[in-house]
Amino acid sequence: MGAAQGRTMKHIKSAKYFTQAKQIIPGGVNSPVRAFKSVGCNPLFIERATGSKIYDADGHAYIDYVGSWGPMILGHCHPKVVEAIQQAATNGASFGAPTYKEVELANMVCEAYPNIEQVRMVSSGTEATMSAIRLARGCTGRDKILKFDGCYHGHADSLLVKAGSGAATFGVPTSPGIPADCAKYTLTATYNNLEEVKQIVAVNKGEIACIILEAIAGNMGCVPPVAGFLPGLRELCDTEGIVLIIDEVMTGFRVAYGGAQERFNVRGDLVCLGKIIGGGLPVGAFGGKRELMEQLSPEGGIYQAGTLSGNPLAMSAGIATLKLLQEDGFYQQIEEKSAYLEAGLRQAATSAGVSTCLQRVGGMFCTYLCSGPVNNFNDALTSDTEAFSRYFRSMLEAGINIAPSQFEAGFMSIAHSKDDLDQTIDAAAQAFASLAI
Ligand SMILES: *Cc1c(COP(=O)(O)O)cnc(C)c1O
Repeated sequence: MGAAQGRTMKHIKSAKYFTQAKQIIPGGVNSPVRAFKSVGCNPLFIERATGSKIYDADGHAYIDYVGSWGPMILGHCHPKVVEAIQQAATNGASFGAPTYKEVELANMVCEAYPNIEQVRMVSSGTEATMSAIRLARGCTGRDKILKFDGCYHGHADSLLVKAGSGAATFGVPTSPGIPADCAKYTLTATYNNLEEVKQIVAVNKGEIACIILEAIAGNMGCVPPVAGFLPGLRELCDTEGIVLIIDEVMTGFRVAYGGAQERFNVRGDLVCLGKIIGGGLPVGAFGGKRELMEQLSPEGGIYQAGTLSGNPLAMSAGIATLKLLQEDGFYQQIEEKSAYLEAGLRQAATSAGVSTCLQRVGGMFCTYLCSGPVNNFNDALTSDTEAFSRYFRSMLEAGINIAPSQFEAGFMSIAHSKDDLDQTIDAAAQAFASLAI
């Protein structure tokens, strides 16, 4: 049951909690996008969630397309995942010693990603990418890295960098607190522009340790790779001795069991995972070729560690989640639900005469308020973000929870019913109609 159409929601408790939170937590939140700043309203405080629905502190229900920013592909509180976490908790929350659960999840990851011969568990996607980059630098003895404008890989210093005026010049940090000396090793290129990458690599010949990218860019909406982009990068990395790091923190187990690499038939030398492999608990992982992974401590000299890495609760949630994803037809169902929603949203926008660009790969999608296509960050920036914030608020009021930013992907779960999708399409039709006036 979604909220009644047209009623004005009162967010009394959320407002009260946010006031208190702002006193003692910077901005009132523990991760910036949660603050709803770019959509001009206060955040909802969430009390609980189940299946496709999330409930705020004032008792309103929302059909949820945020899914904790990706992990909840089974919907919230899947009974098998809850049971696995409860079971693990009764045996002890953390030991700081190896457990067999780590071997089990590692095996599942290696089976899903044939290029992952060894994998190490960490506690977040940020840690996974940060560690993969250290490994690439350590193995190649090179300092520079190349990333793409609009790709997000967590908040490590060297990754919070975007292009300066010229893409081939030294990177400029996106945040104060990052030494220019650190950012200068980060080169940035335009997503989907292979020629530009080739030029940058030529200018920095023999100096680039790795190229890191999202094989489907999900942190500037949803931008699939254009034909030839991924194979071109693979070939370039092979000829130049550059480590190709594919960041599948969002796309891994999301767009296919084997992630974007399976879908687009490309293989990274190192792969970063997170989100879904933790089933909603804090997990990240990085893995890849044995000859690279063996250079990590304690086998090799490249240091990486974590007190809570491979945490038994998190491993249990991950194992239970992946087992359910292996069921016959799982990804087919996600595809069908997502295609149905996409078609409905497209129709709703067209009827209202609103210019939108819907981009989708499997169960991740974005409705850009621009004509598109969106192939890179600059294209994404042509979206009407002011209109998006009105669209967002209209959807929220109708009981639909989408990400509070134009530049985030939406996520489908297996728990979304046809009724949920129809309600979402109806709400979008009204939201688009209000944008058109
Ligand atoms: C979410 C995300 C990260 C960061 O993961 P955290 O767990 O938030 O640190 C890194 N890379 C990609 C592609 C992501 O979507």
